[in-house]
Amino acid sequence: MNIEQETWESAALCKDASLDFYKLSPVNVALCVEMCNACPVKAECLNASMFPRLEESGIWGGMRPEPRRSLRRRTMKANSLARQDA
Ligand code: SF4
Repeated sequence: MNIEQETWESAALCKDASLDFYKLSPVNVALCVEMCNACPVKAECLNASMFPRLEESGIWGGMRPEPRRSLRRRTMKANSLARQDA
């Protein structure tokens, strides 16, 4: 595989980590979010977890499920308003 064929997942900091990104205890979430905040593909990860469908579980892009759900709703509403305004 050459560099152009690689996906954002290949640059994910968590790909070889021993953390469980689906365990939502406060300490585990804090450790995962710390790793996400240093991850070079945080934005790509967050986007992939929300579109086209919401990934209902786990930490993606440094966010737990409910904040991602809320961000997805707000983004879809803003996109809808922008289309109506165009
Ligand atoms: S942002 Fe977090 S969950 Fe997403 S790829 Fe990076 S380390 Fe993994």
